[in-house]
Formats: sequence, structure tokens, C-alpha cells
Amino acid sequence: PSPPSNGGENCCVKVALHVRPLIADERAQGCKDCVTVVSGKPQDWSKSFNQCHTCHADLSQAHVQSCTFYWQFKWTFGTPSSAMFEECIAPLVDGLFQGYNATVLAYGQTGSGKTYTMGTGFKDGCQMGIIPEVMNVLFSKIETLKHQTEFQLNVSFIEILKEEVQDLLDPATLNKSDTANGHGGKVNLPGKPSIQIRETSNGVITLAGSTEVSVSTFKEMATCLEQGSLSRATGSTNMNNQSSRSHAIFTITLEQMRKLNPVFPGDSNLNDSMNEEYLCAKLHLVDLAGSERAKRTGSDGMRFKEGVHINKGLLALGNVISALGDEKKRKEGVHVPYRDSKLTRLLQDSLGGNSRTVMIACISPADINAEETLNTLKYANRAR
Ligand code: ADP
Ligand code: MG
Repeated sequence: PSPPSNGGENCCVKVALHVRPLIADERAQGCKDCVTVVSGKPQDWSKSFNQCHTCHADLSQAHVQSCTFYWQFKWTFGTPSSAMFEECIAPLVDGLFQGYNATVLAYGQTGSGKTYTMGTGFKDGCQMGIIPEVMNVLFSKIETLKHQTEFQLNVSFIEILKEEVQDLLDPATLNKSDTANGHGGKVNLPGKPSIQIRETSNGVITLAGSTEVSVSTFKEMATCLEQGSLSRATGSTNMNNQSSRSHAIFTITLEQMRKLNPVFPGDSNLNDSMNEEYLCAKLHLVDLAGSERAKRTGSDGMRFKEGVHINKGLLALGNVISALGDEKKRKEGVHVPYRDSKLTRLLQDSLGGNSRTVMIACISPADINAEETLNTLKYANRAR
């Protein structure tokens, strides 16, 4: 069957800006808040940016350039960000029920609030962030539709580290987790076949060798999120010892078998399959690796190698998204470089085309982060 058209949305990537509050650490260092947010409203950034005379970082040229970036962000949110969920994420969950694939990407430097915003730091049953909220909406929608539709939900949770796909829900890995090593409990099992990204003849991307968990309740899905979050590899950098250098991707696949009303009630000649509509769509919720450049994290040796690979994924993602966002290029059928990284390859069938993408650019309001904040805004601006 031909895929549904994208429902009249002409903009294929929506960029939302999320500004977290100053955190205790930053206050203790005497940081100043250099970003102003008018919560949940389309914002004229050219105005608020004038207020950055409170910013103590040397913005010089970047300051001037950035004016053109700031004011163009239509969706800007502070905390709490329920408005962001309503405006940017809830429509993707609705779309899932109509058969549209979707991707939510949290982008930003380490410490900017990606994990907090996505909810991939899920622990101690603390249900905060986009993923738990998506789960809430998903299960309540299913509840209202289940009399006419059969649902099948699957979850996978993987991370991409050094251009390798790792399974965060692998039962063997989960059992051997050991958080005392400071690396998030990740144990690489020798001899375990690596996960392969494959493309079927009709363009569907699949992950061969990763665990897919079938879930039917909120609690079951929450357990997947929590277990995967725990086994996610993290390593310390001098920016934030909880930072992660990997991309974490939590994927929800929704299959539906909808019973259609028979055209002629009681017509026994119609076989069942003619009275049913099958839809399958997936939602990727991505907590991207920190966007800061290697030099800022004091990386060397092994760590530096990881940094280089992470940049490869983020670089490819930026190129893919900017190719998708350029309508002229799209019409000319310009090549979209999905194959340049594992990240973009994996997201290929859920970025562009008929799928919906939201990038949440996460920034810290602290003046000491102004340089990375500008980098984030520039990256996000390419996507917009
Ligand atoms: P990242 O995943 O981008 O490295 P985190 O999500 O770990 O960043 O956030 C860094 C710190 O900021 C954490 O201590 C987190 O609790 C805090 N934080 C992030 N977002 C918020 C928010 N919206 N409100 C309050 N604290 C936040
Ligand atoms: Mg994080």
C-alpha cells in the first residue's frame, strides 16, 4: 500500500528551543542567566537577545551573527514544558495512529538538559520527560480505541557508541550490569554478534539482532525505559560526569489492525481481511550525544576517538536535516546523505518523506555556556 501523505504539514522538521533553568552547580560558580524565555509563546528573539548585555562571555562576532538565529525560532520553551509537549510532541503521537513514522531528537551540549527533557535518565520510578509523557498519551489513546482496533506495541532501546549499535535491552547485558565501574554498567559480551541496520525492499529500516520487547501496559514499557537507561554507557568528562558520548534511541513501534465497518452488513462473502486495515508506524525518541567539540571536554586517547565518532553522527544528522529542509533542493531530488553515519541510516525511514521530525535544541541559560549555546542555535537554525 502507498504510504499516507503527510497530512498537509509542509515543514518536515520542526525545531523547538528548550531553555532549562540555571542549576545549583552554575549558581555556585556565580554564573549569570543570559537567556530570556517567554514561555510557550512564539518568541521574537531579536528582542530578548538584546538583553544579553548581562552575558559576561565574549560573544563579539558571534553575538552579531546570532541575532539572525535567535529571532527565527518560533517554538521556544522554558521549564516546565507542558506547552512544548502539546504543541510539538502530541501531534507526533497522533500521527503514529495514522501510520506516520516520527522522530524526536534532543540536541545540545552536555549538561544542557537533553536527558532530562527526553526522560532517558529515568530512575527510581521518577517519571519525567517526553518519553513517559508519550507513554501516557499512547496508552490512554489505545484505551479509547481498543474496542475497534487491535494493537501490538514493541519497544527497542539501543545506543550508538563509536559507530557501533549496542542493545540496551539485551537480557544478557542487563543481568551482568555493574554500575560500580562508573561506566553505566555496560559490559561488552565477547562473541555477541553486532546489530546490523538493514533496509527492506520497500524502504523500511530494521535492526537485525536487537531485542524487541512486546509490551501491553505502561508499566511494562516503563520497565524497558528504566532498564535501558541504567545500562546506557556513560563516561566522565570534565564537563559533567554523567554525560554520555552516545546517541540513545528509544523506539516505539505501533501496529494496528483496525476493523472496518462492513459495506454490506451481514455479507458473508466478504472475507475478514477485506474488513481490516493494517497500519504500522514507529516513533524514535533520541537523546543525542553531547554536541560540544572534543577540545572542550578535555578528551584524549580512547575518549577522543569516541568524540570523533559522535561528531560523525551529529554532522551527518545536520547534513541530512538541512538537505530535507531545503525545499528547492528537495524538488531537484538532491541526494540526502543518510548513509554517512549509523545514526542517520537508522533513522532514514523516519526522517523526511512522510514522517515527522521534531528537533529539540536544548540550551543552558548560563553565560559560561554562551559559546556552545550559539553553536547549538546555529545547528538548529540549519534544521529549521
Ligand atoms: P544532558 O543530558 O544534556 O547532558 P541533563 O539532562 O543530564 O543534560 O541535565 C544536566 C543537569 O541539569 C542535570 O542535573 C539535570 O537534572 C538538570 N536539568 C536539566 N533540565 C532541567 C530542567 N528543565 N529543570 C531543572 N533541572 C534541569
Ligand atoms: Mg544526557
